[in-house]
Amino acid sequence: MVFTIQNALVLTDQGYKTLDVQVEADRITAIGVNLPIAGDTIDGQNKLLLPGFVNAHTHSPEFWQRGRIPPLPLELWLFELYSPKLLQSEQIYLSALGTAVETLLSGGTTIVDHLLLLPGRERETIDAAVRAYQQVGIRAFVAPLVHDQSLPTSLPSNGTAPDPQRQTKAVLDLLEEAILMHHCPDRGINLVISPTGLQLCSDVLVQKGVELSERYQLCRHTHLLETRAQQILAQEKYGCSAVEHLKRLEFLGPHTSLAHCVWLDDAEIDILAATGATVVHNPLSNLRLGSGIAPILKFRQAGVNVCFGCDGSASNDAQDVLEAIKIGTILHNITDSDYRHWITPHEAVQMASIGGAKGLGLEQQMGCIAIGQKADFVLYDLTSLSLLPQTDPVGLLVLGRPTQAVDSVWVNGQRIVADGKIQTVDVTMLKQELLRYSQPPQQYSTTSVVDVEQHYRSVMGLST
Ligand SMILES: [Zn+2]
Repeated sequence: MVFTIQNALVLTDQGYKTLDVQVEADRITAIGVNLPIAGDTIDGQNKLLLPGFVNAHTHSPEFWQRGRIPPLPLELWLFELYSPKLLQSEQIYLSALGTAVETLLSGGTTIVDHLLLLPGRERETIDAAVRAYQQVGIRAFVAPLVHDQSLPTSLPSNGTAPDPQRQTKAVLDLLEEAILMHHCPDRGINLVISPTGLQLCSDVLVQKGVELSERYQLCRHTHLLETRAQQILAQEKYGCSAVEHLKRLEFLGPHTSLAHCVWLDDAEIDILAATGATVVHNPLSNLRLGSGIAPILKFRQAGVNVCFGCDGSASNDAQDVLEAIKIGTILHNITDSDYRHWITPHEAVQMASIGGAKGLGLEQQMGCIAIGQKADFVLYDLTSLSLLPQTDPVGLLVLGRPTQAVDSVWVNGQRIVADGKIQTVDVTMLKQELLRYSQPPQQYSTTSVVDVEQHYRSVMGLST
């Protein structure tokens, strides 16, 4: 398949240029002015062509709970999250579709799904999510969320011994089975080794996970120091910081991405920089759960690669990548009075594209508009009211509130969105199915949190 996008606005090192971009199969093969036409032509007039963004951290099954959980800190919110009636595997498929559709329509071409697994139906969960991503055609990094310790151990204990529950071996066997079954980068499906976080994982699980990732050349991903409670817990559990402990376990590296990273000190930031690990900034989730403001400007000054994630829909509660980029960019202007450190819209777009690619070891293959790169890119309609008048298109895309701005999306050379509409999924049907599975609000219970709230308030020094 060959096609040529004509006269699109492209952001180059020398500023904006109007260029033709030619694609053969899955790669960009030529870029220039007035290229000889090859294959189908696509009118790029009044359109901006940008590399696709990476939604570098989400949990698609949370789609079913968006808007539901009241304002609570992560540790209490988690008890709400784990209390709903069990989902059916068809719902896992539908929520992955919904997450992918919203990601695509906000400029994302790649998704990292830190996938919550249905208890007792773990393989079924992975199969359902993979099926959805293959159907929609988004580049997917499916990262089964695994742990071998129980939820109460994620709180500082004041001396109570942890209570390991799940069998480490069973978790590792599940991962290897899923890798052998589904890992196929050429088809756009990648498995990721992704322990939930140190607060719920044994050292053995993390170390064996590292071995698996090396054996099968996989990326690694985990939550890291999202909350102050996790910082306290790491000291209690290991006698050192969580970052130091992950380094000892050899989890950190250039293909490791770490969601949140809110509670890191300067020494820990230096470790991330030295190991080449990537920080995934989830600003909306951090605000929603009151986790804190990640020191993103410090990461950038230390040379740590940073990209953006939406996080799951129960803590955001949307999958709008452009919204995450906007908030994740301007939020930090209040953390440093030296405006020269602030993130510009152009830098934000680079963080979301090449920064996201780097965190997945794909910076040689995607993340910019250049010959030889994968054809993973997005055409934005600059005649959308939200992008008018035409000033600095990237500035308005990041700082404005783009609505219906995505005209077309290609992943691996396949056009998945055309004229603002998803081509691979019947979205009307998807909406009907989401409605069909919806539960009346009164069927949700919010009582489970009461059991742990007292302990949480006590260890966090809040009035009881
Ligand atoms: Zn998360």
